Amino acid sequence: MIQCITKERKQEGYDPMCNGIYYKALSVITALLTISFSLSAEPPHPSGINIRTYHDHKKLERDVLSPNTNFQQLRSEWTSDFEKLLCRNRIDFATVSYFKGHWDQIREIIEGTVLPPDYLEVLISDVCNANCVYCRGGKRHHMISNHFISQTSADQLAEDILRSPVRRMRLSGYVGDPFAAQAYSSSITLGQKLSKTVSFGVVTNGIGFDQKAQETFINAEYVNFSLDAMSEEEHFRLKGRKGFEIVLKHIRDFCSLKSRLQSNVSVRVSFIMRHDILDRAEDIIRELKQAGVNIIIFKTAMKYDDQSRLTPGTWEKIEEELEKLKQRYSDEPDFKVVISDSLNNASEILTNSSIRPSYPRCYFAEHHLTLFADGFFRACCDSFWNNYQIKFGHMDKVLIARDWQEIQRQLKKLNPAKHCSICPRFPNSYNILMNYLSSMNSEYPGYLDWFAHEGLNILSSQCNRIDTPSPMQKNSA
Ligand code: SF4
Repeated sequence: MIQCITKERKQEGYDPMCNGIYYKALSVITALLTISFSLSAEPPHPSGINIRTYHDHKKLERDVLSPNTNFQQLRSEWTSDFEKLLCRNRIDFATVSYFKGHWDQIREIIEGTVLPPDYLEVLISDVCNANCVYCRGGKRHHMISNHFISQTSADQLAEDILRSPVRRMRLSGYVGDPFAAQAYSSSITLGQKLSKTVSFGVVTNGIGFDQKAQETFINAEYVNFSLDAMSEEEHFRLKGRKGFEIVLKHIRDFCSLKSRLQSNVSVRVSFIMRHDILDRAEDIIRELKQAGVNIIIFKTAMKYDDQSRLTPGTWEKIEEELEKLKQRYSDEPDFKVVISDSLNNASEILTNSSIRPSYPRCYFAEHHLTLFADGFFRACCDSFWNNYQIKFGHMDKVLIARDWQEIQRQLKKLNPAKHCSICPRFPNSYNILMNYLSSMNSEYPGYLDWFAHEGLNILSSQCNRIDTPSPMQKNSA
């Protein structure tokens, strides 16, 4: 208004600076406005800018990102705060790759978009064809039930999935195997009905992964054989039955089928870290590489006795030797050896420390459904430990596409800090970052712009380099 008066008067040939009355009036109004603004405004940020009232995102973005601006201090605060978060928490490499590859989607979620479920984990069977001593941290016997998804239910589920946005699935078992006799035909049904539409990840002990199963899942995204043992004798000791040679045969047959049909399925075989692993590790790596396996993973099993005999000294030696094998055999782009846990991470897993969520919201479960063998949808595959009683309905009554909003409503009752004592590595890392970004974003407008340009780089340079593929990640080798 002041500008308007001044402009009009100037146009009339009248200069207010030369007129005492107008000049004084202008000074008084300006002074009053300044006082009233400074009384009502929030205290300025140390950067000198009151960022809470700074709502011009575009301008903020430009200011934040341009060097030598008033935001320099703010930027360094954000950087050091984020670095502290990374120091305090174990963020794995799979999460970092996922963040980098899906940044646009992640940003949408943080800004409030509710995405439909695009990933479904089906724990199809609680019945198993083995009895591993380390299964679920040695607590399998508490969890065993006779539940498995029947073939009729698998048929209905396939129809439901085809009508839903789910396009990626993982087929596994909680304390069972998808190819144990009782669940076998249901797993095959899902594979046959969905394999043209849905990208499958399959996790099996390999014992029941016979020719028909191999043909059904030959175009899966990946098949992970949890072989775990390195000899027949050890298989018997660890898994309560013979099967080592059978599983090796299934792996070899699957690899030849893959090569014959020129499939892109990623074949993965995992082993458990233990004190005598080096005796056979190189032979096994060579043999499986020759057979056509793509990834060999050395992992930590929770509360497996042999591991407790691993002192930090022996663990370091094993890690060092495995690292050498990794370098020696990683000479082809479609083959790699992965050591999925460092000593520190392993002891965290074995003691459950630092995998206890302290955040209020599970972003992971919000677009990743899990179906248990009892037919109930729950938050994630670790719900048994955590929030088993929080159910999102039975598959006989729930239709994924139709009831998704209702499932989201139910999910709001889940508070990881209260309900979850263990969170698996990938969801935990993912949730830590998502909760952090969300709180920073609500506090500071423009934070996500900064993060897209600088935070992601800090994330890549500082995270733990543990490169097991994440369950949500497409990984060709
Ligand atoms: S354990 Fe992790 S993934 Fe599962 S519901 Fe809790 S926070 Fe979510």
